[in-house]
Amino acid sequence: MLGPFSRLLFGSPTAPTAAPAVVVRTGPTLEGVELLRSFGSGETKTYAIQNVSLGMDRCQMNLLMGPSGSGKSTLLAVLSALLRPEGGHVRALGQDVWRMSERELEMFRLRHCSYVFQGYNLFPALTARQQLEIVLKWGEGCGVREAKTRAEKVLGQLGLAKKMHLRPAQLSGGEKQRVAIGRALVKNPSFLFADEPTSALDWENGQQVIELLNGVARQQSATVLVVTHDHRLLPYADRVFEMADGKLATADGCVELTHATGHPGHHAPPPQKFEHSAPVPTGPRLRLQEPQFSLT
Ligand code: ADP
Ligand code: MG
Repeated sequence: MLGPFSRLLFGSPTAPTAAPAVVVRTGPTLEGVELLRSFGSGETKTYAIQNVSLGMDRCQMNLLMGPSGSGKSTLLAVLSALLRPEGGHVRALGQDVWRMSERELEMFRLRHCSYVFQGYNLFPALTARQQLEIVLKWGEGCGVREAKTRAEKVLGQLGLAKKMHLRPAQLSGGEKQRVAIGRALVKNPSFLFADEPTSALDWENGQQVIELLNGVARQQSATVLVVTHDHRLLPYADRVFEMADGKLATADGCVELTHATGHPGHHAPPPQKFEHSAPVPTGPRLRLQEPQFSLT
C-alpha cells in the first residue's frame, strides 16, 4: 500500500528496532572518498560522479550546487545510503556505509537519515499528523500517545497546528513541504538529505523551508545536505559544494561562507526580501573566504 518510499521511513516490518552500533570516531560526520558512479554501458555509459571526495560536519548546512546533469542528485544518493557507488567509500558516524549488509543499511537509514524531496512523498490517505505519527510508530515503536504528542509538537513548531487534521490534497505546496520536513525532523535524524526541496515552491514558502532545514542543523545538531540550483539559498548555508560534469569544481570542493552579521537562518532574518527572479543578494552580509567563488 505504501510503496517503496515507505521503506526509507519505516524499514521493513520485520526489521529490528536497534540500529547498528556506532563506532567512536574522529573526522567529519559524513565523508565521501573518491566516489565513482556511472549509468549505462558501452557507448551510452555516462559517469555521473567521478573521483568526488568531500566531508561534512554536524550542525552544518551544506549546499550542493551546479548545473542540471552535473551529478548532484547522484552524489546525494550515494552519500545518503540510497545508491551504491562503483568506487570509493562513504563514511558516516564512523561507519563504512557501503560495507554494511542490506539489513544494516536499512537500519542505518531508518535510525539516522531523513529525506526531503521536491515531490513531498506524502501518503494521500493520511492527515498531516498521521504522516508524522506513522514514522514514530513504525520506525521507533512509539506508543500512540507519545507519537501524537511528538507529532503535534513538531507540527505546531512548523506553524501547522490548525492544519494537522488535513490530508495532502487539502494542503498548499508550501504546507505539504513543511509536513514532509516535519516528518523528517520528528525522528531527530543525524543526517537530513534534501534534493531540490524548494524548486516547486514560491520564494516565501521556499524561504520558510530553507530556514527550517537550517534549524534542523542548528538545533538538532544534524548534518544537512541540500541539493539546489537556487542561489537565493546561499545566505543560509555554511558551506557550498559546486559540481560540474560529475566533479567538484574546486580542489577541496567547497567554499566556506562567513556570515558577517550572523547566520541569517539562525539569528536574524535576511535584511531584504527578494523577488523570485531577483539577483542574488550581495553586499556586506556575506564574506567569502575563497576568492574564486562568485555570488553573481
Ligand atoms: P543533477 O542532479 O545534477 O541534475 P544527476 O545526478 O541526476 O544530475 O545526473 C547526472 C548524470 O547521470 C546525467 O547525465 C544523467 O543523465 C545521468 N543519470 C542520472 N541518473 C540516471 C539513471 N538512473 N539512469 C541513467 N542515467 C542517469
Ligand atoms: Mg537532480
